Amino acid sequence: MIKGYKCYHCGGDTEPDVVDHEARWGEQRVLVRGVPVLRCVRCHELFFEPAVLDVIKKIAREEPKPGEPEIVIRMPVRSYEPVVNP
Ligand SMILES: [Zn+2]
Repeated sequence: MIKGYKCYHCGGDTEPDVVDHEARWGEQRVLVRGVPVLRCVRCHELFFEPAVLDVIKKIAREEPKPGEPEIVIRMPVRSYEPVVNP
């Protein structure tokens, strides 16, 4: 993990954190759990190391192993509609 990395949005310090990250390619989506990231302590932007992104890409694209996926989640889909103020 990169130490002392500064947020390029606000210049804030970053700290290691772990997140669930939705990886996409084409129509496929996979939620990858336990991904190490750096999080800006000021604006909360997340930063992924290139090596971590490579691993995410590999995990997202690999064929499911026996017993996988671990969990399948259903997600509601809604269309964006502008809010009309009276
Ligand atoms: Zn920031």
